[in-house]
Amino acid sequence: MPVRRSTGRSYADEVRGCPRVSVRGSAHTGTDVQKLVLMSNPFFEPSTLDYQLPPFASIRDEHYLPAFDAGFAEHLAEIDAITDSGEVPTFENTVVALERAGATLHRVATVFFSNSVSHATPFIQDLEQQIAPRLAEHEDNITLNRALFARLREVPLDGLDDESVRLVEEYLKSFVRAGAELDDDSQATLRRLNSELSALRTEFSQKLLKDTNDSALLLDSAEELDGLSADAISAAAGAAADAGHEGKYLLTLILPTAQPALELLTDRGVRRRLHEASVNRGARGNDADTLAIATRMASLRAERAALLGFDTHAAAATDNQTAPSLEAITDRMRELAAPAVRNARSEAEELETAAGHAIEPWDWAFYASRVRKAKFDVDLDALRPYFDLERVINEGVFFAANRLYGLTFTERPDLIGYHPDVRVWEVFNEDGSGLGLFLGDYYTRDTKSGGAWMNSFVDQSALEGTRAVVINNLNISRPGEGEPTLLSYDQVVTTFHEFGHALHGLFSDVTYPLFSGTSVPRDFVEYPSQVNEMWILWPEIVAHYARHHETGEALPQDVIDRIHAAGAWGEGFETTAYLGAALLDLAWHSIPAGTVIEDPLAFEAAALADAGLDFAPVPPRYRTSYFKHIFAGGYAASYYAYIWSEMLDADTVEWFRSSGGLTRGNGDHFRRELLSRGNSIDPLEAFRRFRGRDAELQPLLVRRGLA
Ligand SMILES: [Zn+2]
Repeated sequence: MPVRRSTGRSYADEVRGCPRVSVRGSAHTGTDVQKLVLMSNPFFEPSTLDYQLPPFASIRDEHYLPAFDAGFAEHLAEIDAITDSGEVPTFENTVVALERAGATLHRVATVFFSNSVSHATPFIQDLEQQIAPRLAEHEDNITLNRALFARLREVPLDGLDDESVRLVEEYLKSFVRAGAELDDDSQATLRRLNSELSALRTEFSQKLLKDTNDSALLLDSAEELDGLSADAISAAAGAAADAGHEGKYLLTLILPTAQPALELLTDRGVRRRLHEASVNRGARGNDADTLAIATRMASLRAERAALLGFDTHAAAATDNQTAPSLEAITDRMRELAAPAVRNARSEAEELETAAGHAIEPWDWAFYASRVRKAKFDVDLDALRPYFDLERVINEGVFFAANRLYGLTFTERPDLIGYHPDVRVWEVFNEDGSGLGLFLGDYYTRDTKSGGAWMNSFVDQSALEGTRAVVINNLNISRPGEGEPTLLSYDQVVTTFHEFGHALHGLFSDVTYPLFSGTSVPRDFVEYPSQVNEMWILWPEIVAHYARHHETGEALPQDVIDRIHAAGAWGEGFETTAYLGAALLDLAWHSIPAGTVIEDPLAFEAAALADAGLDFAPVPPRYRTSYFKHIFAGGYAASYYAYIWSEMLDADTVEWFRSSGGLTRGNGDHFRRELLSRGNSIDPLEAFRRFRGRDAELQPLLVRRGLA
């Protein structure tokens, strides 16, 4: 297993994050390893369950640490065997051996780090604080291994197929990016920086989870919740009771700035309190404050980038992306900012007219929904009864995958997840062959990080003979007892989006694990997932799944027509909020080494002003103190990836529309040329083979009203 993937990747949407892990060199002797292996531990052998699903029912807390210890030792022993073999380096004895190494570590790390975001019990949180720096050190032990790097450079390429050549090249590049060419002193500094960064990342994530839970808004009376549905009020009462506040009401926070209840709450004072709870998370000066951590991380990342020969962390992080350069990224973001803010200002004027007063951030969603209703006769919240989670999954998401790709799904209650909420489906190709497993973990809980994401327990690889086991995590509030789970329109979008990532993992058809499924550059990975959103309102799909949960009535066509007619209205707000976060991310990661940021909130304000995104009624989608993507996820200097990928997405939607839409032929073409490739070929080349040309920007500009 490639070392850089010793933890599961995960793609947080609207929220996503993925721990890059790390290890203190616990130089185990062979005897230690044998002793550990003698103990029964479900991580020590490949799972015997279907598709090698991790044996969650047998995994107990006490298994993790011995498995990590054994996994680190085994991996290092395997690396030593490669470097000490005395044989002339070949592709097989060096690169393939490296690719196969670390199996135990990979098995334990994928499960552990999935739990650290999906079910972070106090035990898991404590252990993560120990394991994260050790894993960082372990990764350094491999990428900074001079003998290994020297062998990699000597591997002859003649006679290798294209994917194998690419494998060698990608390993060499990743070793160089990780510091393989630095001198001993610089490597020692690099190790110190990586270790501290991984500890800080864990600390940021855990404090944010705590302060997000602690910042939930507690209200005394149901009157204060006026505007919310009876179901939502009963869910708030249940949440308060669970938190030990029987008789009160608790509005919990989702990860982004905008809180769904703001659209409905009629009490302006309550709206303000909810908004302020959201934007002040992590910045309250209490023991869960994250600002100092963020500042320290930005500074350490700048120092590390300088060590590696880059001007800034942003330059280092975008060096291996599909975007041609950091400059191209910054230019594109700034170019989009002006028309986005212009649209947001014009939307604000309409809202002010409707409200009769100035629009504050906590007023935006409330009046936007009213104006949308008046102007286009669209009330998104009124759609909830048509979006029953069960139907959205089975008759929407799965049905679309059946129509496009011929997939069928069979729920496997005999296969057990890491929590009772987790459901497992077996996925079949049209010819009846098994493709992989899809796990769904839909409900929110205190042990789950905010947002939604996909990650992978088993990566498809011909080398290992494995098929994919992938999971989607969402954060949907649990309904009251016996009530259906009715989704907001946004949650339907998230459900389709995350499943697009799942398909990218499931359809992977590559040889090497390093290239499997979603192992593509950050600024490409959001492309397939965003494409999958196009089927939400596709006539044949929406008619199939969107039915009233009580009457069975289909979502009326004229409602769908009006949603389409509303088009880009409201995109001014969305795009401005998104770009605010993207440019804030770039600002934090464009500081040169040695810069001291005394006041992170002033830095944030200056970054937004500098980009022309300081329009007070539209705060950024994430502020620094809860920007989990960049301080506890894999998106540092990469939050721009969403809109960058969206160019490919919008252009692909155009292709589907002009090529006959929802057909098996179109699905197969997209699957074959793009979704199955992983990173086994240059992703932009895969796009070209699929599309017949490079992507064009125009469809994105039209979609977002920026043309
Ligand atoms: Zn995504």
